[in-house]
Amino acid sequence: MADSVNPSHALFDSFVQAQTCKETQQNFIELCRHLKVEPRDYKHFYSKLKDRLNYWKAKDLWQKIDKRAAHPDYEQGQACHQNKCLVLGAGPCGLRTAIELALLGTQVAVLDKRVSFSRNNVLHLWPYTIRDLLNLGAKKFYGRFCSGSIHHISIRQLQLILLKVALILGVEVHTGVTFEGLLEPSGSTGWRAQVSPGSHRAAAFEFDVFISAGGGRYVPDGFKIKELRGKLAIGITANFVNRRTKQEAQVQEISGVARIYNQKFFQALHSEIGVDLENIVYYKDDTHYFVMTAKKGSLLKKGVIKQDFPDVNQLLAPANVNQKALEEYAYDAADFSTDHMLPDLEFARDHAGRPDVAMFDFTCMHRAENASLVKERKGKRLLIALVGDSLVEPFWPLGTGIARGFLAAFDTAWMVRNWGKGGLPLELLAERESMYQLLSQTTPENISKNYASYSINPSTRYPNISMSSIKPTQVIHTVLDAHLH
Ligand code: FAD
Repeated sequence: MADSVNPSHALFDSFVQAQTCKETQQNFIELCRHLKVEPRDYKHFYSKLKDRLNYWKAKDLWQKIDKRAAHPDYEQGQACHQNKCLVLGAGPCGLRTAIELALLGTQVAVLDKRVSFSRNNVLHLWPYTIRDLLNLGAKKFYGRFCSGSIHHISIRQLQLILLKVALILGVEVHTGVTFEGLLEPSGSTGWRAQVSPGSHRAAAFEFDVFISAGGGRYVPDGFKIKELRGKLAIGITANFVNRRTKQEAQVQEISGVARIYNQKFFQALHSEIGVDLENIVYYKDDTHYFVMTAKKGSLLKKGVIKQDFPDVNQLLAPANVNQKALEEYAYDAADFSTDHMLPDLEFARDHAGRPDVAMFDFTCMHRAENASLVKERKGKRLLIALVGDSLVEPFWPLGTGIARGFLAAFDTAWMVRNWGKGGLPLELLAERESMYQLLSQTTPENISKNYASYSINPSTRYPNISMSSIKPTQVIHTVLDAHLH
């Protein structure tokens, strides 16, 4: 009873339970106003919030955050207390990196051009990511977190959890702000970002660390990208409304069936309904989510793709796709693969209110050649690091995006820690590249199983690693100013 009448408790509850990005930001501002704590006072914000919110539900969360923050790697928030970081992108990897940098004591600002978190699509989680998110209080923010048989979370729910933790730790998150490019130092002004709208106060923020987490295909100047071209791979995702009925609850999830393992199923799918797939995954989450790789021949036959082209961009150009036929194709695949057991399949809606079905090209995947670089202009150094999809694009049906994305976020935080402690640029860049070399080979089996001891220190996560497999002389090209060598 007392809880419901105490306004700060009610405001805290609304913040914790907020289901959109906007609602989260508004409830956070109201909570701060009510408690008279200033989020811009990032160094003391969390401790003041904690002191002023003496509420059992909040205390549960403080306990978790305190436990993480007490790790010696962060040196009680002093490791990077003089550093300032701009994070481009409030996707899961940008936010996860921002949280670690805030724990290190960095002043962190995150920019995102979007104003809402609208992706229904569902991400597969490796056991370590589940433990990581539970340790950050995921269950407090989202009670259903990992309650099913296969572990996953929708992209938007994951963003909401991470946004809330980031705000609590004093990270400034600006939505509706587009990053246009880096502005070099001039006069006494340091590195800044050119943003749109130009009048936004993020334009005045000066920083010495820039994290690019702008998602697939976003690459800042100075980085080179490798294209990994495989055989034609056309991905389709579809989301259907989950009404959480008993009947829906009984339908089995599909953790990933590839053609080679279940020829019979794929042959029946092809011969009975003309849908020809390489693989399919089904997760029951906030929506019924399906991701599949479809063969071109069947998409042409079913009229989903109107005309055949050798060039995949032309092939999948919106003008060459019949959206209604694509909906039918995805519907039939979903209905057949769940044995017609999902009643009244109705498409969930995407951000624009359309049926949430999309087709993507996985033929050519991008991967950055280097994970980080250092620029120096007018005596001011800037550390630039890529994380998430802008570092390595994941193949969605394999579900590696978040697990590898978070590993890179931690490795990057470790590098920023060394940067804050005055490490030599070439040495920390070489160490970061040594970790990056491992990333694409990581699996749930070959990383350390001792999840409780995971920290930003790479040696807690990768067994038997050599942190110096790449030598400083091999990364000279990533320092963009000759006299730093
Ligand atoms: P993202 O989550 O892509 O976040 C990048 C953020 O940067 C975005 O919020 C974007 O608005 C922002 N941004 C980009 N450019 C700018 C700029 N110039 N200024 C300001 N902000 C900017 N993975 C799967 O495993 N399965 C799926 O089904 C799946 N579906 C997806 C659907 C879509 C539409 C997209 C875009 C991605 C999908 N992914 C999927 C990939 C998955 O979302 C990522 O692997 C995961 O979210 C980690 O990505 P990230 O944080 O690196 O980048």
